[in-house]
Amino acid sequence: MSQPIRIGIVGVGKIVRDQHLPALAKDRDFQLIAAASRHGKVDDIPNFPDIGAMLGAVPELEAVSLCMPPQFRYDAARMALDAKKHVFLEKPPGATVSEVEDLKALAAQQGVCLFASWHSRYAPAVEAARGFLASTRIKAAAINWKEDVRRWHPNQDWIWQPGGFGVFDPGINALSIATYILPAMHITSATLDFPENRAAPIAAQVTFRASGLTVAMDLDWRQTGPQSWDILADTDAGQMVLSGGGTKLAIDGRVVHEEPEAEYPMLYRRFAEIVRAGVSDVDLAPLQHVADAFMLGKRNVVEAFFD
Ligand code: NAP
Repeated sequence: MSQPIRIGIVGVGKIVRDQHLPALAKDRDFQLIAAASRHGKVDDIPNFPDIGAMLGAVPELEAVSLCMPPQFRYDAARMALDAKKHVFLEKPPGATVSEVEDLKALAAQQGVCLFASWHSRYAPAVEAARGFLASTRIKAAAINWKEDVRRWHPNQDWIWQPGGFGVFDPGINALSIATYILPAMHITSATLDFPENRAAPIAAQVTFRASGLTVAMDLDWRQTGPQSWDILADTDAGQMVLSGGGTKLAIDGRVVHEEPEAEYPMLYRRFAEIVRAGVSDVDLAPLQHVADAFMLGKRNVVEAFFD
């Protein structure tokens, strides 16, 4: 086995604690040797206030994972690529499409790898759904991604700021699956509901066309009770329901695939693979759809939202 890749982590917050640290602790492809965050700390390794200080003090770093909110990621990514480090970008990979294109070009110029990670694509039933849909004719599809923002994003102001994406922050997870399992699609109409006191939408209805097929996406952050993270398709081989954010696949009500998720261990496996192969993995399709929804979408002003 090759030597572990020496990695640093930046932006120590919820997703780092929930997923990155447990995944890295068990991963023999990586050795976490430093962290950079203004307030957050990781035990038992050197911690720095920002990425510049970390890169300067720990030259043996080979890679970094950038886990701060998307609006604050570009400068850090440029700094890491300039220092010839491989870069793992949390989802969404940036606040705009063109900034990520710029990072992709810089990574190629520097001879290092850029990974635009899409964790939901690694949910356990996604490959099975993709295989099923590829084997049949799809007549119509729908995406229902409805959750309670108070439960999943408490005190996250950035998510309501420009570039924080609002309900498209979870919605882009659905799009990362949809763009992997459905034919290539483009938006034909969208409605975005902005609370009167917020700069990002709390709900959105988006319609796509995909080679003669209509895909209707319904995003809502006001859902209390059971949460919905479902992609449905009417096909010649029956009705497909991919539920639980990609964890369970049922055809005509019969569960055909269900297993516990291991999205972040799989993301790091993929990152190790591309670093060892010397290639980048940057699929911008989900981000492009969000940009298009903001470009084409009609804006409604709705009731103010308070945490
Ligand atoms: P978070 O906890 O609110 O933010 C992560 C950390 O980023 C913060 O603890 C903060 O650390 C740093 N940060 C915040 N504002 C910053 C700024 N202006 N400049 C530099 N650093 C800043 O958010 P999160 O939930 O971990 O989400 C981070 C990213 O992961 C997002 O892109 C999100 O979509 C993605 N993600 C989140 C989840 C989830 O369940 N939460 C799941 C999958 C992916 P310091 O204050 O210590 O610098």
